[in-house]
Amino acid sequence: MQERRRADSAGASGSEGGHRHPDSESGLNLKPSARTHARPTALEERTPGQPGQTAGQTSVDDPIFSCRDVNVYYGAKHALKHVTIDVARKQVLAAIGPSGCGKSTFLRCLNRMNDTIPGARVTGSITLDGQDIQDKRQDVVQIRARVGMVFQKPNPFPKSIYDNVAYGPRIHGLARGRSDLDDIVCTSLQRAGLWNEVKDRLRSPGTGLSGGQQQRLCIARTIAVQPEVILMDEPCSALDPIATARIEDLIDELRASYAIVIVTHSMQQAARVSQRTAYFHMGELIEVGETDRVFTNPRHRLTEDYITGRFG
Ligand code: ADP
Repeated sequence: MQERRRADSAGASGSEGGHRHPDSESGLNLKPSARTHARPTALEERTPGQPGQTAGQTSVDDPIFSCRDVNVYYGAKHALKHVTIDVARKQVLAAIGPSGCGKSTFLRCLNRMNDTIPGARVTGSITLDGQDIQDKRQDVVQIRARVGMVFQKPNPFPKSIYDNVAYGPRIHGLARGRSDLDDIVCTSLQRAGLWNEVKDRLRSPGTGLSGGQQQRLCIARTIAVQPEVILMDEPCSALDPIATARIEDLIDELRASYAIVIVTHSMQQAARVSQRTAYFHMGELIEVGETDRVFTNPRHRLTEDYITGRFG
């Protein structure tokens, strides 16, 4: 998968934000023995109080999402600060950073899930294919169909495998009849890599599957309503290594059709599955860019500290 990822990782382009590091062409040696030289200077060069200044490449050509100066408050708590970032089509963007840095808050901005949290307030501009999703006139049910979400803990409905997948197409009126619905269920389960394991027990409860199968069922349920973007909030944190590897392979296949934004606490996972990586720290987007570049040549000292394990 690493080779596939590297071959395709040149998709992002656009303006360079932040400051250029003098060693940016050569790449940093992040081995512990080499940590004392060539530290990025972006942090030192930042002007204190200048909000939203992110190192790296915040914009891409023809983005599916454009977020500009996005802030999220939970009551008085300023949880996400002046975040400006694009999400590219047919790519995986990984959001990494220490616990509490705002990764999930950022993810929830992309399908108005923060609306469900009492006291949460979002400012700034978030456009999906050029449409302002913050506009209160937007149908939030439609937005969540276009921008599906897979959660940390697999959460199948207490229904059959078939009905879990058929639920969304039914409520959105996507099937013309029974055989159409059967096709959608079959195709969605195939694309989620689950069909062969469940085709003979579609009427069995979804909750009877293993954890990894349940997560793939949830992915099938998300795919069934034909989303444009899939958000994943630590989708493998409840899974064993084998189930995790299956989900990671699936993510790699799904990006041929969808933009994916994944929150992960695992830097190895971010490196394996994503083409772009965004590093958050205390509510700020510190750095974003091509994953290979961010991991081998971070432009911000905080990013380097985090990926080399010096953080904390
Ligand atoms: P991460 O996903 O990086 O762990 P979160 O986005 O969950 O971080 O949280 C960012 C900050 O916002 C944290 O300080 C967290 O305590 C706070 N926070 C998250 N959700 C809520 C909430 N519902 N009410 C109040 N504060 C919240």
